[in-house]
Amino acid sequence: MYNVSASEESERMSLYKKTSAVTNIPWYYFAAIDQYERQIHDEIPEGRVTAIQPDPLFWRGVNEPSMFFPDGWGASGNDDAKAEMTNDEDILWSLGNYIKSYGTTKDDIRIALWNYYKRDLTVQTIMNTAQVFKKFQTVSLTDRDFPLPLEANYSYNNTWGDVRGFGGRRIHEGTDIFANYGVPVKSTTYGVVEMKGWNKYGGWRIGIRDIYNIYHYYAHLNGFKDGIKVGDVVKPGDVIGSVGATGYGPPGTSGKFPPHLHYGMYKDNGEHEWSFDPYPYLKKWEKLARKSQ
Ligand SMILES: [Zn+2]
Repeated sequence: MYNVSASEESERMSLYKKTSAVTNIPWYYFAAIDQYERQIHDEIPEGRVTAIQPDPLFWRGVNEPSMFFPDGWGASGNDDAKAEMTNDEDILWSLGNYIKSYGTTKDDIRIALWNYYKRDLTVQTIMNTAQVFKKFQTVSLTDRDFPLPLEANYSYNNTWGDVRGFGGRRIHEGTDIFANYGVPVKSTTYGVVEMKGWNKYGGWRIGIRDIYNIYHYYAHLNGFKDGIKVGDVVKPGDVIGSVGATGYGPPGTSGKFPPHLHYGMYKDNGEHEWSFDPYPYLKKWEKLARKSQ
């Protein structure tokens, strides 16, 4: 994750909006593509403000016709007649024209993205992030929240990687926060509900993908917030369900262990996803929540 200054963010925003004005692709798609690429590359190239790094194979430079992209990809966006893979305006302009060649509806954009990235999770992440940016009309979304109300009676320890008491020899990919049945469970981040339903081990569980390519997994819920569904945009503090003890059996099985929230975090780097320890983040968010009380 990068720490970006407010002036850099406003510079990026004006690039997204400028490109949107000439391509009719809503700005938040450019912002979401940039945000996605910001997570999969180690650093932003010198002198750039966006993190989008086109595959050289796809780039139509001045003297190198592209085998894959229609005319327009690689065209110059900054009026210097030279299309450069290292220039933000040229890249956004080209990307916009490439997407526009498929059309400007949500489905058109989804297909254009799929043909560029060739990966479902990548396309889904970008489409979801676009919805988050659209809803909040900004890319500056840094708030976080602790998943349980601080006034609730709860406790948790660092148990990531432990051998599970339940579920065989799989290692424990998360932190268990013990609390009473029915204590509200809140989203810790901005994001989109990606999954909701029953799983043999997780019981009633919900998964939220945030704008940093991180998947947040909430399991063993007693129930879900009324009406919450896959595709919903959420923000930190939004109630998504309540603490329970569901799982380890057919749908509805409950009470095989003390009620707790199992909270897991998974990072996607554009190629694969892995579990990492949420404990230090929970500690940080708990402290933040206490400060803002
Ligand atoms: Zn657990």
